[in-house]
Amino acid sequence: MEKNIRQLDDIIWQLDLKIDNETEFIAPYLIKAKEDYIIVDVGPTCGIPELVRQLKILGVDKSNLKYVFLTHIHLDHSGGLGTFMQSFPDTQIIVHRRGTPHLVDPDKVLWQSSLDTLGWVAEMYQRPVPVKEENIISIHDKTFNIKVNNLEFNWIETPGHASHHFSFMLENKNIMFCGDSVGMLVPSLDFAMVPTTPHPYRIESGIASIKLMLERSPEKLGFAHHAIRGEGVSLLNKHIAQLQLWESCVSSCLGKDIQDEEEIGVEIAKVDKESARLINGPEEFGGLRKALIGSITGFKNLVIKKESDS
Ligand SMILES: [Zn+2]
Repeated sequence: MEKNIRQLDDIIWQLDLKIDNETEFIAPYLIKAKEDYIIVDVGPTCGIPELVRQLKILGVDKSNLKYVFLTHIHLDHSGGLGTFMQSFPDTQIIVHRRGTPHLVDPDKVLWQSSLDTLGWVAEMYQRPVPVKEENIISIHDKTFNIKVNNLEFNWIETPGHASHHFSFMLENKNIMFCGDSVGMLVPSLDFAMVPTTPHPYRIESGIASIKLMLERSPEKLGFAHHAIRGEGVSLLNKHIAQLQLWESCVSSCLGKDIQDEEEIGVEIAKVDKESARLINGPEEFGGLRKALIGSITGFKNLVIKKESDS
């Protein structure tokens, strides 16, 4: 098997799209439900040719790919969906109701706001093309359950990273696919866990979402970036503590007039060993490191807002 395709389990694969030549960054999960398949997020437009190529190798085609499950609609997760659907015209997409209008008309808000927040990274991901509304199943409630052949999926709304974020539990395997709501894991940096909290991050809803996941006691977590890892409950608890640590660290930096994200990163690295591994990490993790700097911006803005509100 190709090295970009990793079989993690008897029914789960991880397809590394090597976006911007970076591994361990964007890698959709493929799940087999008897004779049918489900893909979890599809990545950005620039990764779709590679994704379609890998799916072909695995025997996934328009007749057996039943669903795309979207955790949320940021470009690195679903920007390529319109392009992807040209090869899979009958596949159904499941997404938060707030995400639907942006998939159908990405030019209206999504593309411009992505350019504003991501800059050249959005250009590198490439512009999303519209998705047909008839392919979309919008979730209107805070939970949603679906059975696909023998597999049972229970979805829960998990805002924080994004207001339109869902996580879902694959009950048969006790795995919670948590998208970007529990930060990211970097396998090559000894599974360093770091927050994914870009502006506008809302820490109260982010922590409340993690507590909802804790109620389900997942054995494993499936991080969108970028691994499935055991000890789900302890990772969830660890992430709550990490978010609180970041908040207090960023708050004390701002109190000392340390404003620059890179300088705040130096301070975070002193108190958070996990983040330190990426902040002080090797050059090839440039994209992930840039995301981490964006997470510091998210915290900076939330601390400033909290202080101006109080
Ligand atoms: Zn992401």
